[in-house]
Amino acid sequence: LDSIMLDCLEAPAVTRDGIKIEMLLNAGLSADTEIAINEFADGVGLYRTEVPFMLTESFPTEQEQTERYRGILQTYAAKPVTMRTLDVGGDKQLPYFPIIEENPFLGWRGIRLTLDHPEIFLVQIKAMLRASIGLNNLQIMLPMISGVTEVDDSIRLINQAWNEISEQAAAQGENLRKPKLGVMLEVPSALYILPQLAKRVDFWSVGSNDLTQYLLAVDRNNPRVADIFDSFHPAVLQALQHIIAQAKQHKVSVSLCGELAGDPLGAVILMAMGYTKLSMNTYNIARIKFVIRHVSVKELQALLGQAYELDSGKAVRALFAQYLEAQG
Ligand code: PEP
Ligand code: MG
Repeated sequence: LDSIMLDCLEAPAVTRDGIKIEMLLNAGLSADTEIAINEFADGVGLYRTEVPFMLTESFPTEQEQTERYRGILQTYAAKPVTMRTLDVGGDKQLPYFPIIEENPFLGWRGIRLTLDHPEIFLVQIKAMLRASIGLNNLQIMLPMISGVTEVDDSIRLINQAWNEISEQAAAQGENLRKPKLGVMLEVPSALYILPQLAKRVDFWSVGSNDLTQYLLAVDRNNPRVADIFDSFHPAVLQALQHIIAQAKQHKVSVSLCGELAGDPLGAVILMAMGYTKLSMNTYNIARIKFVIRHVSVKELQALLGQAYELDSGKAVRALFAQYLEAQG
């Protein structure tokens, strides 16, 4: 790390008007246990567990998963680590578990797949719980939630795993706390059942990549429609605003872990809306901290009112880019 970079990393993530932003990491690679960035982050907002699953030749065993998760929980000891249950399907394939479908992004993905294979889900939850013994910094998050029954079915399985592992831990005199549970908000239907979700889980995390894809009906990986894929589209902004308002009303903790949080313009729009927990790739931490330290949330809020009147994502970006430039 060069010295300018280090200065950016070490400085607190506080805006000019004193708003503290929690800087969380998106992680998944084993390299994430080796790098020093963990010192400068407030925790892991999204650990994509499918990544280690993609690197093996068969389903990793409970023991193998436990060791890997333990490594991450230890690296970030005393900071929250949000582990997302397996989110394969869509564009993420396991070589040893092929899924062939006409519409993979509308198909057997994320929680849908693991609820159909509770043995996969249970092994993973047990491995997570075992890895958290004595550390107790684990949080569990469910991907691709589209309805309440998926949450209830998941909670039933999580409780089953919890009963088994917590009993074993207690018998051995070990300290294991029940992890907080959260859901990804990335399927549009979830936005219309937020009060019901608030009753069931401790936190929400917005997956702006999939939320944009599904709200705008635009494949997030298709270059032909790449310019329609726009997380600054007025409809996406309305959705993000709705989520933060509901989170405040129902007193649920909310973060955002899609690419938008690691984009300087995205980060400032989110701060204007009231988001204070942003989760991003490691290489974005320094520049987003730099941006945070140069803006005022009060000033950004004034711009947000104007942004809602605009017709396109492009115009919204231009408005905030102009503000950022003026801050140097
Ligand atoms: C998202 O959809 O925004 C997200 C963070 O999850 P993923 O990119 O892994 O689908
Ligand atoms: Mg997603």
